[in-house]
Amino acid sequence: MSKWKAFAEGSLIVSILSYLDIHTHLRGVSETNIQVSSLSIDEIKEQKLIGEYSCAGIHPWWLEDISTEDIERLKIKILELAESGKLWGIGETGLDRMYPEFFEKQKELLNWHIELSESLGLPLIIHNVRAGSDFLEIIKDKTPSVPWLFHDFRGNEELVKNLLRLHSNCYFSFGLSIDNSPQIRELLPLVPIENLFLETDNQKHLDIHEIYLRASEQLHLDLDFLKSQLWLNFKKINRKLQ
Ligand SMILES: [Zn+2]
Repeated sequence: MSKWKAFAEGSLIVSILSYLDIHTHLRGVSETNIQVSSLSIDEIKEQKLIGEYSCAGIHPWWLEDISTEDIERLKIKILELAESGKLWGIGETGLDRMYPEFFEKQKELLNWHIELSESLGLPLIIHNVRAGSDFLEIIKDKTPSVPWLFHDFRGNEELVKNLLRLHSNCYFSFGLSIDNSPQIRELLPLVPIENLFLETDNQKHLDIHEIYLRASEQLHLDLDFLKSQLWLNFKKINRKLQ
């Protein structure tokens, strides 16, 4: 029986044994974790899926290295994958104000991803660096319906509240920042637990188990309760499990 089927059938075994890693670029990590993997450029080109939950999108950082033609080719591959029903989500995509020279191009690509996620009803995985107010404007303009998952969220309580007010289907994921950012440690208990996820992202030395442990300590929650709650959150946004 596959891991997600066990979960779908109401078994608590998965929630007790497995850690859900909602966003990772790492490969070949422990079998006991369940990961939502963001595909690399090569994986998108080869249309190679990773495990049961793959996401595909054009990362804003890639704009520094790839040509306009490459972007168009990647869009075709992503579209094919998405329309074949093989993707769990769209992304990661987003806005990064640390790369101002590409900002307009990032916005254009973000819009493309938003429209794709809406047309197929798939969650959108979002990279946001210092662009919280841009996302508030975009939500007002686009009124999305699919889940928006802000990975490695670095905003403040006000941004969480404003995003949820405009789009209640927003989620916030945390990883390394739980350890190294005092601001995020303060923010973590203020994020509604129904909108929370945890992740490894691209941190090779980070164990998802450790992140859950840190989060459970900071939230004063039992570890198994936290795991179960994040599984429930996953179930809520996961078309496969509904
Ligand atoms: Zn990432």
